Amino acid sequence: MTEYFEVHERDGAARVGELRLSSPRTTPALVDDVLEDAGSLWSADRDLPDGDESRLTVLPHRAFPGGTPEEVQASFAVDAPDVDYPSVAVVSSEDVESQGTDAYALSDVQSVMGHGAALVEAVVDVREAIPADTALLFSGVATPRNVALLAYAGVDLFDATAAVVKGTEGRYLTTDEAYFLEDLEELPCSCPACQGPREEFTREDCADHNRHALESELAIVRRRIRDGRLRDYLEGQARHDQWLTAAMRELDDQWGYLEERTPILRDARIDAATGDTLRRVEIQRFADRVTTRYRNRFDNPLVLVPCSAAKPYSESQSHRQFHDAIQWRGHLVSMTSPIGVVPQELETTYPAQHYDTVVTGRWTEDEKEFVSEVLQRYLERNEYPKIVAHVPDEGYRDIVERVEERLDLDITYTVADHPTDDESLANLSEALSGELKYSKREREHNTVRALADYLLGDGAGDDLFADIQTTSRYPKIQVRDDEDTQLATMVPQYGTLSFTLAGARHWLESAAPTKRVEIDGFVPHGSVLAPGVVDADEDIRVGDEVIVEGPQAFAVGRAEMFGREMAESTRGIACEIRHVEEK
Ligand SMILES: [Zn+2]
Repeated sequence: MTEYFEVHERDGAARVGELRLSSPRTTPALVDDVLEDAGSLWSADRDLPDGDESRLTVLPHRAFPGGTPEEVQASFAVDAPDVDYPSVAVVSSEDVESQGTDAYALSDVQSVMGHGAALVEAVVDVREAIPADTALLFSGVATPRNVALLAYAGVDLFDATAAVVKGTEGRYLTTDEAYFLEDLEELPCSCPACQGPREEFTREDCADHNRHALESELAIVRRRIRDGRLRDYLEGQARHDQWLTAAMRELDDQWGYLEERTPILRDARIDAATGDTLRRVEIQRFADRVTTRYRNRFDNPLVLVPCSAAKPYSESQSHRQFHDAIQWRGHLVSMTSPIGVVPQELETTYPAQHYDTVVTGRWTEDEKEFVSEVLQRYLERNEYPKIVAHVPDEGYRDIVERVEERLDLDITYTVADHPTDDESLANLSEALSGELKYSKREREHNTVRALADYLLGDGAGDDLFADIQTTSRYPKIQVRDDEDTQLATMVPQYGTLSFTLAGARHWLESAAPTKRVEIDGFVPHGSVLAPGVVDADEDIRVGDEVIVEGPQAFAVGRAEMFGREMAESTRGIACEIRHVEEK
C-alpha cells in the first residue's frame, strides 16, 4: 500500500510524483529536510520510531556493502514492520523484496555510481521488484550533473548530502563540471549564494551554491518530464560525463524496462540531434512494428521517396510534387533518419510526424545502417511487383543500393539530379506508366487496417476490418460496419484509432489481440482509478486504446498507465473512459 506516494506524470521510466506528506512535495526532489532515519540495526537494537505525516521515516535497517553474498544478506534481512505513517525500507539491489512501504532506499548505491552498467542494473533490479507506485530514494549521491540521468532511470527522491560535502571540500558543482573553487576567478552562476564578491565566497557559500544548483537542475528535470522531453535533454546533459553517457546507453539496452514505460503516443516532439536518438524506444518501437506488424495491402509498385521537413509528409511541397507524378499508381514509402521507413498509411502515426532532425544532408554510417536494416526487414516481409527508388544521391541511394544487393532485387532509379526537378519527376511518372490507380476507398480501407496492425498486432487489420465502409475525409476517417454502425475513428494527431462501444465489442469478438482492463463492480465515468482495477493485460502501454469491463459496466477508453502498473498500483488514474454502458 502506498498511501503517501502517487505518480502524476510519466516520461519513460521517469515520473513526476507527489510525496503526500502533511506538506506535500513534488518529485523528483530533495527530501533531506523531511527524512528521519531510525538508524541501523548493526549498531544497536532500535525501537520502532513513532513517525508522523510531516516526514518520511526510514525504518530500522541493516545495510550491506555491495558484493555481500546473498545468503548472508538473507539471514540478516529485516522485514519492514507495518506502520501507518510515510515510511522508507532500506534494501540492497542484490536482494530486493517488496516491503509494503511508500519508498525504498538503495543501501549499496555508492558502489554503483561511476559505473554505467552497474548503476542501470541496480535501478532496474529494484524498480522491477517494487510496486510501480512506490518512490525510489538514492541517498548521498546526487549532483547537479548526474541527477537528470538518475531521474531518467527511475529514481524519485534524493538528498543534497554529496553536493554539500563536496562544497565544504571546495568543489564548486555545475551541471557540466566539478570545479576546484580556487581555480575560479569568476563564479559561473547567479544563484543567491553566488551574489557576493568573489574574494568573500567561502566553502560554506560553495555548499549553498551546490545545493541551489542541484535544486535548479531538479526543477528542469520535473519540467522536462511534464513535457515528455527528458530524453532530449539527457542526450545533451549526459555528454558532460563519460559514465553518464555510458549509463544512458546501457539503459537503452534494457528494452523491456523502458519499452513498458514509454507511451505509444504523445504531443511531445522528438529532437533527433544525436546518434543516440536512433536507440530511443519510440524510434525502435516504430521500426519494430512497421517490420513485424504492418503489412502492405496494395498491389501497386513500391515508390521509395525521401522524407520532408514538413509533416505529415503528404502536406510538404516535395511530396505534393511526387504525388502529382505518381497519381495513386504507386505505394509511397518515405525513408528517413531516425525513423527508418514510413508507409503512407502510417505517416501521421506517432512519432512519424512528431520529430525534428538536424538537416545537413550528411548521413552518418550509423544512420545509413539503421535505415538499411529497417528497409531490408520491410522488403523481406512485403513483396512488390516493382520497386521504384525516387531518392537523391546523398545517403538515400547508398541505402537503397545496399538493400538491393543484399536481397538481390532489381530496383528502378528515377532521380536525375534532384527529386523535384522536371526530369526526375518525368522519370517517376514514366516508371509507373501502365499501372492502374487504386481508389480512394481502397486507400482509406488500407489506412485504417494498417493502423490496426500497427496498434494491435500482425493481422489485426484484416481480423477487425474485413468488411467495412469508410466515411468522412482523410485523415479523420470514420470506420463503419456493413450495417453503417460506426466502429472507430482515425485520430489524425497521433495516427491512431479510437473505438466506439460497438467497435469495442466487435474488437472483443474478433481474432485481433485485445487490451483488456478488468474492473470492480462499478460504472466508471471520466477516470478509472487504480484501486478499481482488478487486472489488466500486461501488453497495455500508456496511450493504448483499452476495453474496460466489470460486473456492472462495459466501456472503452485510453490507458494512462501501463498494464502491470494498473494492476499493482493503489493510487492514480489508470485509464480515461470515453464511452460506457451499464450492464
Ligand atoms: Zn550559485
